[in-house]
Amino acid sequence: MATPSRKAIGAGAGQRVSVLLPLPLESAYDYRLPPALVAGPGHFVEVPLGGRVVLGVIWDEAPGADHVAEGRLREVIAVKPAPPMRPTLRQLVDWIAAYTLSPPGAVLRMAMSAPAALEAPTQASGWQRVAGAAARITPDRAKALAALGDEILPGTEIARLAGVSLGVVRGLASVGLIEPALMPRAAAFPRPRPDFAPPLLRPEQEEAASALREAVAARSFGVTLLEGVTGSGKTEVYLDAIAETLRQGRQALVLLPEIALSTQWLARFEGRFGAPPALWHSELSSRTRRVTWRAVAEGDAPVLVGARSALFLPFPDLGLIVVDEEHETAFKQEEGVIYHARDMAVVRARLERATCVLVSATPSLESVANVEAGRYRRLGLPVRHGGAAMPEITAVDLRQKPPERGRFLAPPLIAAVTETLARGEQAMLFLNRRGYAPLTLCRACGHRMQCPNCTAWLVEHRAQRRLLCHHCGHTAPTPPACPECGAEHSLVPIGPGVERIQEEVAELFPEARRLVMASDTIPGPAAAAAAAQQIEDREVDLIIGTQIVAKGWHFPHLTLVGVVDADLGLGGGDLRAGERTMQLLHQVAGRAGREDKPGRVMLQSFSPEHPVMQALIRDDFPGFLKAEAAQREPGHWPPYGRLAALIISSEDARAAERGARELGLAAPVGEGLQVLGPAPAPLALLRGRYRHRLLLKAARGVKVQPVLVDWLARVQLPREVRVQVDVDPVGFL
Ligand code: ADP
Ligand code: ZN
Repeated sequence: MATPSRKAIGAGAGQRVSVLLPLPLESAYDYRLPPALVAGPGHFVEVPLGGRVVLGVIWDEAPGADHVAEGRLREVIAVKPAPPMRPTLRQLVDWIAAYTLSPPGAVLRMAMSAPAALEAPTQASGWQRVAGAAARITPDRAKALAALGDEILPGTEIARLAGVSLGVVRGLASVGLIEPALMPRAAAFPRPRPDFAPPLLRPEQEEAASALREAVAARSFGVTLLEGVTGSGKTEVYLDAIAETLRQGRQALVLLPEIALSTQWLARFEGRFGAPPALWHSELSSRTRRVTWRAVAEGDAPVLVGARSALFLPFPDLGLIVVDEEHETAFKQEEGVIYHARDMAVVRARLERATCVLVSATPSLESVANVEAGRYRRLGLPVRHGGAAMPEITAVDLRQKPPERGRFLAPPLIAAVTETLARGEQAMLFLNRRGYAPLTLCRACGHRMQCPNCTAWLVEHRAQRRLLCHHCGHTAPTPPACPECGAEHSLVPIGPGVERIQEEVAELFPEARRLVMASDTIPGPAAAAAAAQQIEDREVDLIIGTQIVAKGWHFPHLTLVGVVDADLGLGGGDLRAGERTMQLLHQVAGRAGREDKPGRVMLQSFSPEHPVMQALIRDDFPGFLKAEAAQREPGHWPPYGRLAALIISSEDARAAERGARELGLAAPVGEGLQVLGPAPAPLALLRGRYRHRLLLKAARGVKVQPVLVDWLARVQLPREVRVQVDVDPVGFL
């Protein structure tokens, strides 16, 4: 069927448009735009779908692709009074959909996360003077008019300022001296001032900063890796790039991995710019979401700081994107549309002709490879600011100096904590495990308490007297007897979590004031701010924390960091286990000795000879990178090759296995391609679904998307079997 072109449709018939809906649909649908409505690509519209009315966006796709006959087309109901979605953001949606093999509508949904912001913002009304009007004026009325002046104010405000009753204001209106008017909208976000309080940058900071300022001023696309040890002043450098972006009249976006915990960062920003940035993360109230989204779309939020989802906000003129701690796995979204916000930030920057800055003390191998290939530029800050030395890192060999039975802190670490506290300084014990114990076991029969929905042990949270699955949230009271053999008081905790370390510390250092920092004890921004304040004010001597203490904090009096189990992240045989452990431990270590007092770090390990421990001890990150690269390059592992994972899952164990086998049999063959698996996933059961994995490995030059599309098209799987595609996987569970 020949579809008529837009021009061929008479004005009476309306225009055919393609509308993308924020639903997991494969393509856009056609609608008729009635003559009374004016809209084009990017406009947000309301359309009928089945019996519902849904919001969508007029898309660039040529209409007619869905083959709906002209006569059966349904009509667009309304065009929303909001700035249309810009071409660059529409291109980003299409790009990510194609790259991740997701339905474009599923990606669009991430760019429509505040539908309430599409309504015309309500504007309060007030009163203004009617020019040239004359009427009888009482002394009260005169006071009210004087209070109003040339402004537009609400009646209550006029009465309050003039010290008169509201009746006086009504009187002024009734004689026509004042008339209703819409109040000007207050800017949702004050403008940060680029020159409010800039620090004097050190020469090497200034060198990096001026390179970034030039990049921003050039208004063209480019990616810079800003590398330098923790505390070297990288943040000050990119804040300077933000200042230049503001001078250019463009917007800046900063992605932080743990935005809810970034109170110190926010305070610093406000000190530097005289105004706070706009924020974007999942815990915002719906009102704040609406106001922020709208302000961004209208260019009224000059700087926005957010979690990865901020990448999909409707910036009209984005000049700079900063990804701080670019190596963080928190930037990878693992559910729904599986994408890496760091990589997509680069894509958005390219579409927007913006400068992209990736910041890290321990950059990912991917970014380093991009520097080496000449795709990214590298700027480095070699030393800590203010002459603060990097902490001295040593290992405590647990084979030679084990803790007492049933304890987890070895004598050398205990001695170091004792000394530190005696000097009136603060110490931090790091263990990346929430709760009391990661495993609960029956001493009588050996039964292990396992999650019914996942291949995972239940973690004891002793304070709540509950067992909890950290994967699905399943929870149950700690039973008084073994559910398997019925033996009473036979369940024992195996291994430590932070709660158990805090218990040990309480016995060792009863006088020390302790604070546990984990996602369950520090649930949000307010708690994080309070904790940081307590530490800065020296109301805390000992901090016991999970990875949330590793991130970005600056505690001037903290001089000792003890890593309770430095080997923890190295098990599991994951491709990036070494890299991730290195990054995490380096970051934790960076909390120590950030000011004049030197810091030290002790790593409790059963294998201090491991290359990761050695690189940390010798402070040789470049050497570590080289060794990692040498391991990955011959086998074409990323970043020297490409990976895509298929995760096949079903509530029916046999269906999942069969689906995985069929996909395995249909595996693509070709030059530079290799398929590993199928095999049961390490998390073989997750939230009640049985899981299998296949891994496609390809040479660097191979485009994996067409291979995957072709592969998936060759296999028909039953409805209950789900296949998730993870291009460039970061985790392998
Ligand atoms: P990084 O981001 O590399 O970890 P920061 O930018 O946080 O380093 O700097 C570490 C500390 O040094 C911070 O307290 C910061 O305020 C301070 N600092 C960095 N550069 C300067 C400067 N040029 N002048 C004054 N203080 C600075
Ligand atoms: Zn579970």
